[in-house]
Amino acid sequence: TSMIKMKKVFKVYKNGVTALNGVDVNIEQGDFVYVVGPSGAGKTSFVKMMYREEVPSKGEVYINGVELGTLKKKDVPFLRRDIGVIFQDFKLLQRKSVYENVAFALEVIEENPKKIRRRVMNVLDQVGLKHKARFIPAQLSGGEQQRVAIARAIVNNPKVVIADEPTGNLDPETSWGIMRTFEDINSSGTTVIMATHSKDIVDKMKKRVIAMENGQIVRDEQQGEYGYEA
Ligand code: ADP
Ligand code: ADP
Repeated sequence: TSMIKMKKVFKVYKNGVTALNGVDVNIEQGDFVYVVGPSGAGKTSFVKMMYREEVPSKGEVYINGVELGTLKKKDVPFLRRDIGVIFQDFKLLQRKSVYENVAFALEVIEENPKKIRRRVMNVLDQVGLKHKARFIPAQLSGGEQQRVAIARAIVNNPKVVIADEPTGNLDPETSWGIMRTFEDINSSGTTVIMATHSKDIVDKMKKRVIAMENGQIVRDEQQGEYGYEA
């Protein structure tokens, strides 16, 4: 079934820049999709449509069958619960522990404390950081910090995980580890969408590749390649 669908989506920012210029796409439940293309092509704008960080100037975005334009403001938090988002710069709370950074996402929906503890330790285990639950972000490497961000993104069992250049600040070896973690998440049925400039990784993984240029999808291949110089 369709997890994310866009119909003729346009995005024109206030400054007049057209970031998305008629995007049609269908992403199925369980897909793993790389979004590639030059800087400024519209990748970030494209993924922002999926978690309603930006809204289209024209066209329609459907998540799990729901057209986002019909959502009321009070419904947006419910949508976001089904979608985990991961950024290049991790966006962790610097004064909070690893545990608290992950628990925070659950606590807002008033789960009971015992369930919270079990679930948080489970996801920290899944990303290999159970033993660092009490650390703060500054005590972790970049790769470890990104794992915390991944744990936070998946703690609510989202249907979709969206990552915008998650390995952009990491060395190649660490990036591979992060990529394996995304593969794990995907193999349990979660849809994964990742904007990336990591040519080596995209070329070796043989996943679906959507290439964007000038706000349009110019290529969409099931076992695709990066297709640009690194
Ligand atoms: P990419 O992620 O491929 O680099 P973006 O979606 O970030 O592409 O940007 C596409 C175009 O839209 C670029 O020209 C960028 O400068 C512009 N843009 C992105 N966000 C904004 C914004 N909030 N306001 C105005 N222009 C923006
Ligand atoms: P990316 O790494 O995806 O290319 P940028 O570093 O270009 O992202 O942009 C960082 C943030 O600034 C994003 O939230 C983007 O939407 C916003 N942005 C990008 N270009 C512009 C712009 N020309 N005017 C306003 N905001 C922008």
